[in-house]
Amino acid sequence: MINKIKDLPYEYDALEPFIDETTMRIHHDKHHQAYLDKLNAALENYPELKNKTAEELLENLEDVPEKIRTAVRNNGGGYVNHAFFWTILKKNISIKGEIKKAIEKKFESFEKFKEEFSNKAMSLFGSGWTWLVLNNQELEIINTSNQDSPLSDGKIPILTLDLWEHAYYLKYQNKRADYVPAFFNVINWEKVNENYIENKIINLKNPRKTEFEIDKIFVNRWSPRAMSGEEITDDELMSLFESSKWAPSSYNSQPWRFIYAKRNTKEWNKIFNLLIDFNKLWTKNASVLVAVISKKTFEHNNQPSITHSFDTGAAWENLALQGSLKGLVVHGMSGLDYEKAKRELKIPDDYNVEMIFAVGKKGKKEDLSEDMQKIEVPSDRKKISEIVYKGEFNGK
Ligand code: MN
Repeated sequence: MINKIKDLPYEYDALEPFIDETTMRIHHDKHHQAYLDKLNAALENYPELKNKTAEELLENLEDVPEKIRTAVRNNGGGYVNHAFFWTILKKNISIKGEIKKAIEKKFESFEKFKEEFSNKAMSLFGSGWTWLVLNNQELEIINTSNQDSPLSDGKIPILTLDLWEHAYYLKYQNKRADYVPAFFNVINWEKVNENYIENKIINLKNPRKTEFEIDKIFVNRWSPRAMSGEEITDDELMSLFESSKWAPSSYNSQPWRFIYAKRNTKEWNKIFNLLIDFNKLWTKNASVLVAVISKKTFEHNNQPSITHSFDTGAAWENLALQGSLKGLVVHGMSGLDYEKAKRELKIPDDYNVEMIFAVGKKGKKEDLSEDMQKIEVPSDRKKISEIVYKGEFNGK
């Protein structure tokens, strides 16, 4: 946890005449700072909580010891809500982009949205906040009382308005009805658009919703591309292969085989050069490349196996899950030259080349190209009704 709140990202008088300089000074320097001071005081005797961000504490309030829960709720909320509020304020920014489209779709028009938001703000009794949030991926206007954060209800803030009298009393006195329309002149729609895109379109905080309850190991696994270039140890690598050993297969035939190359070894280029250019762009930061092949015939009778690829897929999934559990990037690719792979890697005719996967330590998304950053997100999945049929096939 930090001790000092961030400076405003603009001058104190930047929002004049809609929000006055004196209010901004007191509101930011005194009120906001006081919430942080009180939050830190509450956490004083709980060193294990100090490693968490205030947002994380609010998201899991039930995990906060009861003795300080109310203090964290009020002061953690006050700290986080204000920090967020400052970022969405700026003059002379008109609404555009994805948020404009989404608001018009949800509320029919911007004017209707403004009306609904304003009515909500006027209807709030006492002190609190009006918010535009994402609730289960849908835009929604809500109020929270006091310093309660939407994060505690699993909702993601997109835009907010502080309706405590300290936010407007100096300029507007008791006239909330004048303060609310003034707020619409100082909404930083560029930032609000970013909030929307990050949480709805890219949706990293709340990435995957399952239709039924399953172990989180499955939804936590995804296929990032950003890797740091750091090496992984032989033990780390071999434990991935160990996990693959235990996959089920037809007649326990275990048709999967792996050919690997670590970066900065003489074997690396042989596998790396099999990849299409797009895959070379990001796998250059991998630690290991692995070609997956499968034996097309059973060893016990030399008869063709109809399931060699299928079984090898199960071994691959074991390995991908094990890597995910260990915090490694494990990313499979079919973008490669299959004929060249057979030749270069000396694969016998009795084996099929399945794919190549990259293994590495997690890297920074910002280091990827802009195009790749856009797709650096956990992808969604089809619905159960699209993949499961009762009795006979009745899909498309
Ligand atoms: Mn305030």
